Amino acid sequence: MTAPRQTYPAGTSVHYRPGLSDSHRRLLARWLYIVTAVSLVPFALLQIANGHTTLAFAELVASALLAIGFWRLGHSRYLQRWIYGYLIPLFTFFNIIIIVPEASISASIWVLMMPVLSYLLLGKRQGLLLCLPFMIGGCLGYLYFLDSIHSARSAIDFLNLLLGSTLMLLFIHLYEQRREETRQRLVNMAQTDPLTGLVNRNRFHELLARTIAECRRSNIPYALVVLDLDRFKQVNDTFGHDAGDRLLRLVSRALTERLRGTDTVGRLGGEEFGLLLRDVAPDDTVQLIEEVRERIAETRLSYRGDDIAVTASFGIAHSARDGHQADTLFRIADRRLYQGKRGGRNVVESGDNPAVEATPSKDVADV
Ligand code: GH3
Ligand code: MG
Ligand code: MG
Repeated sequence: MTAPRQTYPAGTSVHYRPGLSDSHRRLLARWLYIVTAVSLVPFALLQIANGHTTLAFAELVASALLAIGFWRLGHSRYLQRWIYGYLIPLFTFFNIIIIVPEASISASIWVLMMPVLSYLLLGKRQGLLLCLPFMIGGCLGYLYFLDSIHSARSAIDFLNLLLGSTLMLLFIHLYEQRREETRQRLVNMAQTDPLTGLVNRNRFHELLARTIAECRRSNIPYALVVLDLDRFKQVNDTFGHDAGDRLLRLVSRALTERLRGTDTVGRLGGEEFGLLLRDVAPDDTVQLIEEVRERIAETRLSYRGDDIAVTASFGIAHSARDGHQADTLFRIADRRLYQGKRGGRNVVESGDNPAVEATPSKDVADV
């Protein structure tokens, strides 16, 4: 028997890793590695000219390491580690050049770069966690460099840095927050059917591919079900498009209410829906879908004094019998759905009936 089914979670939003996409972060990190590697070379040459050979040697070693990093980052699986491997030494270096006695007073300006780099490369949360301690360290280092605040001028210098870096952090944080929210909204819009709030066809295909991969790995049986409302055109023709829309919403609610949170319901287009059921045996799938069919048939839309009813036909493809190819599963589920339409509608088809032609007839060719 199937496990008890619960209400499908409201909304279909999908959460992504915050910040830039991995490919953009990789690109940016590679640029930073190579630009830093190249710009260290003239500094090393100037150090040699000044007689600071140890420092020059250290800079040349750092430059070589960065160049290797640039090359490795092209294909490394450990992008995050390479980013931390760049930012932590860089921020440490910024803080050191603030406190060395011969430091320029303008060295503290690098504190302002910390939130920019860390938010871009790490996103909001990790970016804040990394840059905040270094920024506090940089400001305290600057205070140390100023040899505590003993004049109005050094107080102004210190406050300039403190205020500038606080504002910069605040600005970058708010900017990143809005950017992430907007991105999430756009992703949801691109994956959701606006009428029913279900996942749309593209997203459904992605989720099918993911389900196949996960269930195969864990040896879990799953089913793909395609359903199409019967004679739906008549509903529109008789009661109007608005009634049709309401009925589509009612049907989508009936579907989601009957399935588990781990199952997926999508609107594949028009009056056609797809269901992805995880961890179900073939017989249990048929029984469950029979219940769904009955539930839809019992649904009534009260519309301007009329009670509008609708039925649906279902085609089931199951991993245990029909394999693990997404295209094949879709083709088989579609074929069985057509069979159901030809056989009189309001049915669940889970097996092939050789007596029925594989090609859809004209009146069901829209699916
Ligand atoms: P069958 O049982 O063979 O599937 O018949 P059918 O009438 O459901 O199929 P047909 O392809 O002839 O018509 C599908 C109808 O679905 C036509 C179209 O107006 C309607 N439809 C598709 N999308 C929407 C929608 O978003 N809102 C409304 N109200 N109707 C829609
Ligand atoms: Mg139809
Ligand atoms: Mg259709």
